[in-house]
Amino acid sequence: MDLLERMAEAGAAGWSLILVAPFVGSFLGLIIRRLPDGSPTAWGRSACEQCGTRLKVRDLIPLFSWFAQKGQCRYCGRPLGWFYPGIELAALAVAVNALLVDGEGAWLDCILGWWLLTLGWIDLRCWLLPDILTLPLLLVGLAAAAAFDPEQLTQRALGAALGYSSLLAVAAVYRKLRGREGLGRGDAKLLAASGAWVGAAALPQLILIGAVSALVAAACVRFAGVRLSAHSALPFGPFLALATWVLWLSNSIRPIG
Ligand SMILES: [Zn+2]
Repeated sequence: MDLLERMAEAGAAGWSLILVAPFVGSFLGLIIRRLPDGSPTAWGRSACEQCGTRLKVRDLIPLFSWFAQKGQCRYCGRPLGWFYPGIELAALAVAVNALLVDGEGAWLDCILGWWLLTLGWIDLRCWLLPDILTLPLLLVGLAAAAAFDPEQLTQRALGAALGYSSLLAVAAVYRKLRGREGLGRGDAKLLAASGAWVGAAALPQLILIGAVSALVAAACVRFAGVRLSAHSALPFGPFLALATWVLWLSNSIRPIG
């Protein structure tokens, strides 16, 4: 199997990514829950959200605790909800995906993938792409270029600058045509960060994949019976994040062996 070959090739680093991924997912879950409203800064899930019972270590093992307890709180029996197993599985999927495509380079892919996952999920929940996540992602993208891909640095710095300005331009056109805001500055900053990873040349593709997947998702939502009026829409961030991940991985494909 490809994954096994990849993991054999990636060695301990590959295995550790898979093992660490659900824990990273748990942590991303905390960021997604707590960052947007700036509430309790204690970094830990400390109590059941239903009954308030303090959670012990055995209640907090990613995925395992949830499945072992059949999705219910051990203390009050009420359902725990899908959020934490969902984000933990998604983080694991990112790691598996990266390992399959990229073998030993997978850890850098995972950093990007987990970051994008967090941003996309926050945008989906709260229509918000916090600067505290987008701006560092841009810097890390440029730093990664400088460290691992120096001949691409100019291309990627240009990607950041053009990403920001092109999305502001698209937003201005949208405002003129529709008479309302469709894209925010958060989207522009995310596109800048994406540009810092995939480079200027990939920006048209990036916007195209993002837009097409957003349209497909909107069609699915409508098909599922949810009426979208002209004034409700989907956030664009999750689709930009997805497009960035797809393009980054397609540029990182490494033959096995
Ligand atoms: Zn409880």
